[in-house]
Amino acid sequence: MSTIFSKIIKGEIPSDKVFENERILAFKDINPVAPVHLLIIPKKEIPDLQSVSSEDLSLISEMVVVAQQLAKEFGVEDGYRLITNNGVPSGQQVFHLHFHLLGGRKLGALG
Ligand code: AMP
Repeated sequence: MSTIFSKIIKGEIPSDKVFENERILAFKDINPVAPVHLLIIPKKEIPDLQSVSSEDLSLISEMVVVAQQLAKEFGVEDGYRLITNNGVPSGQQVFHLHFHLLGGRKLGALG
């Protein structure tokens, strides 16, 4: 299912890109909840974490490496949170897998 993130990947909707290669795109969240709030997404259409298959595992690993690099680039490598919402009860709004990279302030408890 195509989402707004597919349109961002295709360049049909603008985004504030911070990283791109053939497989992965990262951009600033349009509604940041922290001074650093980036979204790291695969270009492959995967709806959520629960839909990740074994063939996608190298892609997920690469997303983690991109997160590490971006954390350094944005100066939050000493303290950040990498999270993904899976499904409506978790608060997921866009059904294209994405990691939120949050940092730059003291982050509260999860819940
Ligand atoms: P989630 O609730 O985990 O599905 O997160 C979706 C995130 O996408 C939210 O934090 C939104 O602010 C963000 N978002 C939605 N549309 C855009 C957009 N066009 N550009 C950047 N971020 C967006």
